[in-house]
Amino acid sequence: QQLVQDLKNTIQNIPDFPQPGIQFKDITPIFLNPKLYEEVIADLASFSRGKIDAVCGIESRGYLFGIAIAVALDVPFILIRKQGKLPPPFVSQKYDLEYGSAEIEMRTGQLQPGQRILIHDDLLATGGTTEAAAHLVQKQGGIVSQFSFLIGLKDLEGEKRLEKFGAEVHQILT
Ligand code: IMP
Repeated sequence: QQLVQDLKNTIQNIPDFPQPGIQFKDITPIFLNPKLYEEVIADLASFSRGKIDAVCGIESRGYLFGIAIAVALDVPFILIRKQGKLPPPFVSQKYDLEYGSAEIEMRTGQLQPGQRILIHDDLLATGGTTEAAAHLVQKQGGIVSQFSFLIGLKDLEGEKRLEKFGAEVHQILT
């Protein structure tokens, strides 16, 4: 539809960044267009309306849209951060990268057990980051209800990796 077309025209493909062979999707031009940003938030909010009790956003581009979704739906927003940024107490989850591993963390006591959670990020690639986020939510007794992304890279089969959580998945663009 129109939103998909507008996003396609706005998001820039940067070849060979940050490494040769990678097609980087630069979403920053969205923020030059407040009307388009509003439409993105309206789309993401309508996917989650009435279905979630809190939004967890993944650092850092997941914050750019996640907070606005939470405000639109009048539910709490919880930050998932990269390792080493949060003061204790926090829970952490390790996950594998192409080379090596990484860890994400969430402050304890912010997510309430039994809450239905939307996990949001700007982009779904292999699904490794999102999968780790979902484990972090489950570790704290949250229900992984939904995933949403602006962009899903179909070739990398991230969606398959998220199937085990039995949650709804929304990608504006694939
Ligand atoms: P995954 O763990 O492989 O699914 O990678 C997803 C994470 O990498 C997200 O947090 C994205 O923000 C980031 N990412 C990967 N590729 C791109 C890109 O081309 N543009 C913007 N972010 C990307």
